[in-house]
Amino acid sequence: MLPAIAGALARVRGELDLAAKAAGRDPGAVSLVAVSKFHPEAAVRAAMAAGQRVFGENRVQEALGKFALLRQEPTPFRLHIIGGLQTNKARDAVRIADVIETLDRPKLADAIADASEREGRLPDLLVQVNVGDEAQKGGVAMAEADAFIESVHARFGTRLRGLMCIPPAETDPKPHFLWLQACAARHGLAELSMGMSGDFTDAIACGATEVRVGTAIFGHRPPAGTADVPTPSL
Ligand SMILES: *Cc1c(COP(=O)(O)O)cnc(C)c1O
Repeated sequence: MLPAIAGALARVRGELDLAAKAAGRDPGAVSLVAVSKFHPEAAVRAAMAAGQRVFGENRVQEALGKFALLRQEPTPFRLHIIGGLQTNKARDAVRIADVIETLDRPKLADAIADASEREGRLPDLLVQVNVGDEAQKGGVAMAEADAFIESVHARFGTRLRGLMCIPPAETDPKPHFLWLQACAARHGLAELSMGMSGDFTDAIACGATEVRVGTAIFGHRPPAGTADVPTPSL
């Protein structure tokens, strides 16, 4: 399974390049975040051996278990936290993440500010917007996005790099991507994290500067708890 990762990565990078060129964009302006959640450290190492340097995890606990050793090795990489973040995990997230993509409420902003003071570091931040206004999904509501983005900018300044979204499943994601792009433009924000295995080429056409791709690189995720990582706590 591990040798397949290099081939899959090459395929995804190729599709990313084509999508960027088709949109008249520089492929170098679109960063590929390899989403390794539920996959073991060996899978991350295989991707790193194939040149991948940016990874995404949605649970802080799992990321701690998987990336702590890798941090002590010479190959540099960047780690993005892309899953909903509880305030009691903010300190761990601030300690290990290079980017927190899921800032979506004032209480979490408080927890991140507090953690940053204690840890003496502050990751780059993206505000997650719930572009489908779905009850079960994280992200600030669309109607509240402008005010929340302004408050985050006032508090964290240029550490706020951009916006992130996960459009509703089973719908055309493009209108949601375009909404997010317009929202980022209103606020002068450069980074747009949008697009996953099924829709990253559409996202690139709509201006994504970062796509988060898991399945298309690592294959289907093993059921939680069977991978060789600590079972994520709830
Ligand atoms: C799991 C996940 C992804 C990757 O999804 P795939 O469909 O496997 O590419 C991207 N973004 C977020 C927020 C995720 O939780």
